Amino acid sequence: MFEKILIANRGEIACRVIETAKRMGIKSVAVYSEADKNARHVAMADEAWLLGPAPAKESYLKGDLILEIAKKSGAQAIHPGYGFLSENADFSRACEAADIQFIGPPATAIDAMGSKSAAKEIMQEAGVPLVAGYHGENQDADYLQAQAFSIGYPVLIKATAGGGGKGMRVVWNNDEFADSLASCKREALASFGDDKVLVEKYLTKPRHVEIQMFADTHGNALHLFERDCSVQRRHQKVIEEAPAPGLTPEQRSAMGDVAVKAAKAIGYVGAGTVEFLFDEDGSFYFMEMNTRLQVEHPVTEKITGQDLVEWQLRVASGQPLPCSQDQLTINGHAFEARIYAEDPDQDFLPATGRLNHLATPNTNDHVRIDTGIRQGDEVSVHYDPMIAKLIVWDHDRDAALARLRGALADYQIVGLKTNLEFLSQLAAHDGFNEADLDTNFISRYQEELFPEKASISDELLAVAALYTMLQQKDRGDQFVADNADPFSPWDSTQGWRLNEDNHHHVTFVDKDSLVEYPVVVHFRSPDFLIELESGEWSVNGSMNDKEVSINFNGRQFKSSVIESGHDLNIFISGKEFALSVKQEGLSDDDDQGAANLTAPMPGTIISVMVNAGDKVESGQPLLVMEAMKMEHTIKAPADGIVSEVLYNEGDLVGDSAELVVFEAESKD
Ligand code: ADP
Repeated sequence: MFEKILIANRGEIACRVIETAKRMGIKSVAVYSEADKNARHVAMADEAWLLGPAPAKESYLKGDLILEIAKKSGAQAIHPGYGFLSENADFSRACEAADIQFIGPPATAIDAMGSKSAAKEIMQEAGVPLVAGYHGENQDADYLQAQAFSIGYPVLIKATAGGGGKGMRVVWNNDEFADSLASCKREALASFGDDKVLVEKYLTKPRHVEIQMFADTHGNALHLFERDCSVQRRHQKVIEEAPAPGLTPEQRSAMGDVAVKAAKAIGYVGAGTVEFLFDEDGSFYFMEMNTRLQVEHPVTEKITGQDLVEWQLRVASGQPLPCSQDQLTINGHAFEARIYAEDPDQDFLPATGRLNHLATPNTNDHVRIDTGIRQGDEVSVHYDPMIAKLIVWDHDRDAALARLRGALADYQIVGLKTNLEFLSQLAAHDGFNEADLDTNFISRYQEELFPEKASISDELLAVAALYTMLQQKDRGDQFVADNADPFSPWDSTQGWRLNEDNHHHVTFVDKDSLVEYPVVVHFRSPDFLIELESGEWSVNGSMNDKEVSINFNGRQFKSSVIESGHDLNIFISGKEFALSVKQEGLSDDDDQGAANLTAPMPGTIISVMVNAGDKVESGQPLLVMEAMKMEHTIKAPADGIVSEVLYNEGDLVGDSAELVVFEAESKD
């Protein structure tokens, strides 16, 4: 077994590999970019080496530098994780040449599966079932259209070098074919530098079922059952589970056998996943093989009780597989939910920002969290926006799903947009409960999964008001403790006011709808009387750190309130609400002006049209940024002066980053 390994990756997967290495007594070497110098994987490893600047090309993709570090640090093997260099056959070859073990399959196997069309050829010869289609060399548009016609619409055009859900077009009829082909080829060329495509039958209600397989250098190969990854957005997985609901033992072993056969056909070694489309009638078709450890491997670990990273290390060091096929059984059911920094309401647009507050469910045999991110860390534009993987296990699907809902309700993230609420909607959806799964699940239930935002309830306003008052009282108590005469009425913190009913006005603003909710709070020590639009309510409660316990309208409950600046993020029963406390004296104009001078989303500054000190007119363009392939012009919100320009052309900016400091001309 190795004594020291290098992990050529970052984030949760680097942490995941280091954990197993530690347990096995193997020393770990981390590598990191400048952006990751304080990252969790760096802190966890026995030693860590700087690669270079944040962009992956200048850091995590620098195979030569990584090999040099492996040599210098005395690491005998490199674990590539997933993404980055994990499916790069040249890197695997370079490792071999440098006499460092690549923890993954031989370069020939990576090559064989690297092209979707070449992989299909190989599988066809090995007798693995394929969706009807054309995956040959001829790329003539008319020829491909004739192929599509004979396959029968709808068809799917796929970039053979594609991945990550990019370079795919569904074509419903002959008239659409030519345009779809052209646009698919354009995207393929831009994303993968190769515009070759294949055409295949598009299944309208398939499930994505994949088999985890493993092979060693002694000629043994087996499978560790399947995962169902049908719940997808933009052809990318969101929630995975194992085993696949409703799969019969016969179907399972038939798919498992095919996966092992596929692996043997290419002389595979290590962990691999064979992905299938599983059709309504129970037939299944080879889609592609991923020659690495998958993001969703933990659900397989939970139902088999195996550590797949340990298996990888054993196999890479030349040991045989730890067990045989008949020693493996399925125990219970597991789910994995991918928690992403993204905005489900904007077609899952990736988001960036700092995790100002992070609270996670307790972990135990039922709940596991794989993450590389801690409170205070930043999700940047440079890497994948996944924050964590939440994995739950229980004896059956219903019980595991209840665990998932409970754990999601305990997850709190403040500071950037996440898909947490969307995941909760999914986990609570009847269709998902009934395992009515296929790859169009999310679009089919669009309306129910993206409900209108709940309006602000009296209960929520009562929590916000109580929190604000208790905070004020706390600060007041602190002030009194630090100062003055305890008997003076001037030092009372009960809201005492001379000649006046002791009360406060506060206006909360719903950050989504911008609707304002004025509230008046009267001190009726020890209670408060709260005036809302619906009437008057007597409220009492207490606060312990961020947790507010409240007694409101006959119900006692707890909620968490996270305050940052003038914002309150309130969590009640697993739901999050964002309010801001309106600052008296600030006009709406001022607010809008400020909002317009920040980046609407992460992106790159492509043009700066003003300099510090410039006098500008309302509406004048100040700078242009590009984000998600669209241009956004940042304009002056009013007549005024640009006091500072905070970025230059070519700079990357995070979501909501302040771009320009602007002073509006005073109106009088
Ligand atoms: P990528 O490598 O980009 O992830 P895949 O070939 O793995 O692309 O396909 C991704 C997803 O696209 C699948 O999980 C499935 O949902 C859908 N898909 C792929 N091929 C077909 C097909 N022939 N019919 C219907 N859906 C398909």
